[in-house]
Amino acid sequence: MVVMKRCIWKGLCCAWAFAALINTAHAEWVTRVTDGIMGTRITVELWADDSHPAEPAIEAVLAEMRHIDESMSTYKPTSEVSQVNAKAADGPMRISKELFDLLTTANQYSELTEGAFDITYASVGYLYDFRKRVRPSEAAIKSALPAVNYRHVLLDAQHLTVRFSQPGVRIDLGGIAKGYAVDRGIDILKSLGFTRAYVSAGGDSRIIGDRFGKPWMVGIRDPRKGEGEAITRIPLVNAAISTSGDYERFFDEDGKRYHHIIDPHTGHSASKVRSATVIGPTATRTDGLSKTAFVLGPERAMEIYDRIGDVDVIIVKLDGTIAYSKGMQPAKAAAPAPP
Ligand code: ADP
Ligand code: MG
Repeated sequence: MVVMKRCIWKGLCCAWAFAALINTAHAEWVTRVTDGIMGTRITVELWADDSHPAEPAIEAVLAEMRHIDESMSTYKPTSEVSQVNAKAADGPMRISKELFDLLTTANQYSELTEGAFDITYASVGYLYDFRKRVRPSEAAIKSALPAVNYRHVLLDAQHLTVRFSQPGVRIDLGGIAKGYAVDRGIDILKSLGFTRAYVSAGGDSRIIGDRFGKPWMVGIRDPRKGEGEAITRIPLVNAAISTSGDYERFFDEDGKRYHHIIDPHTGHSASKVRSATVIGPTATRTDGLSKTAFVLGPERAMEIYDRIGDVDVIIVKLDGTIAYSKGMQPAKAAAPAPP
């Protein structure tokens, strides 16, 4: 009898424990969309459970993005980058390790893209205001253009300083900082133990893990249609993707489109393609490479992308046709069996 009672008691305990487990164990997809950091839309989506709660993780990602915005925005006169623009032509200026490393990375992308990616584009770029339909005169471009060249940004790794080799040089990290911020967001989520997540800032996104056996589907916008209209959707797992488009910030005048990607060689909008999407291992990399096709044109850019090897690329050309990098070509049909 005593044994029997104990069994019933034990059984009840197990049932209670199980019920408690069902009531409290909780896991779900959580999505947060935030506007206004780095002048763009930030999306964080993750699979959260009791030991990996969503809210503090998303707050940590957004706090990091705010920090990057504070330090790297040229719209904020107090940012470290604005300070560099104000002072680095006068002599070596000590900067944070974080900014130093990103400037070093930016210069590496300039080398890799034969100067198509160049943060000193801003020496001319600051003369444009796409929202106000302002563009510089030919004379203004001509006089500012000599300051555009990434080689003017002199970095001293030993002393962690930056210096501009001549007056008139300005830098702007708008072409790489969002990709970098996405990577930092993913680093934070990984360090907190998240294994399935999506972080995006404007045109730059990165994914960790899958959606329980299914890939994440990321749409590539049709450059001449509305925001929701995709030319294709790409299945992705553990990858970054960046799209640059001539439809992001632009105005049309006399049949010509003036937009936010600047050819460092001419100081004009770089208009050799409509959009370029780069898929690769990190968002810093895909962001740093997504401007190349605009400046160099689809053929030369594709040679570079194919040579780099760890990226896949989809280019929408000026005539609306699509070019794919080597890794995205359809598999060759199997050779017919011998008779
Ligand atoms: P998004 O800002 O949506 O991520 P992109 O990745 O296409 O868009 O970056 C466009 C931005 O890159 C521009 O707004 C400008 O700040 C910067 N940029 C423009 N031309 C160049 C260039 N030749 N090299 C590097 N950055 C550039
Ligand atoms: Mg970008």
